[in-house]
Formats: sequence, C-alpha cells, structure tokens
Amino acid sequence: MKSCLIVDDSKVIRKVARHILETMQFDVAEAADGKEALDHCAQTTPDVILLDWNMPIMSGMDFLRAYRSSVASPMAKVIFCTTENGIGHIKAAIDAGADEYVMKPFDRETLEAKLQIVGCI
Ligand SMILES: [Mg+2]
Repeated sequence: MKSCLIVDDSKVIRKVARHILETMQFDVAEAADGKEALDHCAQTTPDVILLDWNMPIMSGMDFLRAYRSSVASPMAKVIFCTTENGIGHIKAAIDAGADEYVMKPFDRETLEAKLQIVGCI
C-alpha cells in the first residue's frame, strides 16, 4: 500500500483529500503545518506528500526547503497544492524541490494524473 502525507492547515481540505486518496487505496496521514510534517517525516517516509502553500507555524515552502536539505532517505515525492493566485509561485516551488503541483480545489481525476506523473500510481 502506498502512503501519502497530507499537509494542510484546512481540516476540510485534508478531509476531502483523504477521501480521494483512500478510494485510491492510499494509506493516509495528516499534518496541519510544516512543522508537524517534518516531525512525521523524521519518523517515516511517505511515498508522496501533498503540500499546502499557506500554513501557520511553518509554510509549505519552508517545509520543502528544510525537508529537501535533510538527510531523509529515501525522499518522498512532493506535490505542491496552490491556488489560482499562486501560479506565479510554481517555478519557485519546483526550484525548491517540488516534483509537481496541483491547483486547488482539485478533483480525483486531477490528483490521479499528478500522482501518475510523479510515479506513485
Ligand atoms: Mg492553507
């Protein structure tokens, strides 16, 4: 079973994403900010991380930089979740080590396509 860590400060987004991923047979874990995500990744390596941009305590970008400069091995694939307004940030996210990005709100088909691109399904 593939594993996915959903990192988002919105409980609603986490719930929606969890539902989609569980119907795709993913083992799902959740974190509400980048700090919680780093703590999770210190314990275990998910196959893929769905990463929100704006979060309190530690943003998605700060998480990504910290995670990619860590000694974690193997590294999870990271899919950045951005809003329409965030499209200009996509290059920065890829430069910081994101493997893909998805626009919010996303549906099952879109997420499935992104998971295929990063090789997780
Ligand atoms: Mg957010």
